[in-house]
Amino acid sequence: MPPRHSVPKSRFGLALGVGATLIALTGAQIASAATHDSSGSNATSNRRAVHSSTYVATAAKANPPIRYRALPLVKPHRGGNVVYLTFDDGPNRVWTPRILALLKRYHARATFFVIGRNVRSYPTIVTAETKAGHGVQNHSNTHPNLRRIHPDTVLAYRQIRPVNSLIRRLTGHIATCLRPPYGSFDLRVRKIAGGLGLRLALWTLDTVDWSHPGVAHIVRVGMRARGGSIVLMHDGVGGVQTYRALGRILAGLSKRGYVFRALC
Ligand SMILES: [Zn+2]
Repeated sequence: MPPRHSVPKSRFGLALGVGATLIALTGAQIASAATHDSSGSNATSNRRAVHSSTYVATAAKANPPIRYRALPLVKPHRGGNVVYLTFDDGPNRVWTPRILALLKRYHARATFFVIGRNVRSYPTIVTAETKAGHGVQNHSNTHPNLRRIHPDTVLAYRQIRPVNSLIRRLTGHIATCLRPPYGSFDLRVRKIAGGLGLRLALWTLDTVDWSHPGVAHIVRVGMRARGGSIVLMHDGVGGVQTYRALGRILAGLSKRGYVFRALC
């Protein structure tokens, strides 16, 4: 789905400061905050914990400890001839298998950012994605705007961690990337994801295929890809338009010498 809620710069700026970190800590119902450096007074330690990129917090009793860690975003090297196709919101019973067949025809690898709810409905499609060499990564459990479910950090956590477990169980791989629904995130979301070992993976080219803008439009956007481009598409809500456009994008970019690899 589209990045309906872009990340306000001011929030990012604030998030870099101590204040926002403290807000994040409060939201997580922190019982304790550990620090790398145990020396000094409590006040000093806490201050260091806040400044540290990695710290551990204990959430509500029933939940395991939440670890916060801001990891860098996924940014592939620009240049070269590798294009990264990504498909969100699947798996879909009708379109994902067709897209897999198309990718196979072009020896293309892609990354599928799956929704937990859909994974539970179609687990064998996820297995097929992995067997074909594609990446299967986290796109949350039910596709909420993770930034908007503030201040309940635990809820955000519940949106992400179960999908990691599902992916692990079905594919044998440990998820390493989260594509936040709508591309919406802040430092808090980034830290929750990072604590679960996930880097945020956004995109550089948005085909807006979810809005059914016409095959020609999707192809036009896709054909703008250059080495290191990350193309956003959907295996499901994009329907037949995504499928038809994908065939033309794969053919066109292959002809120009590009190859397709999994982003993560
Ligand atoms: Zn989505």
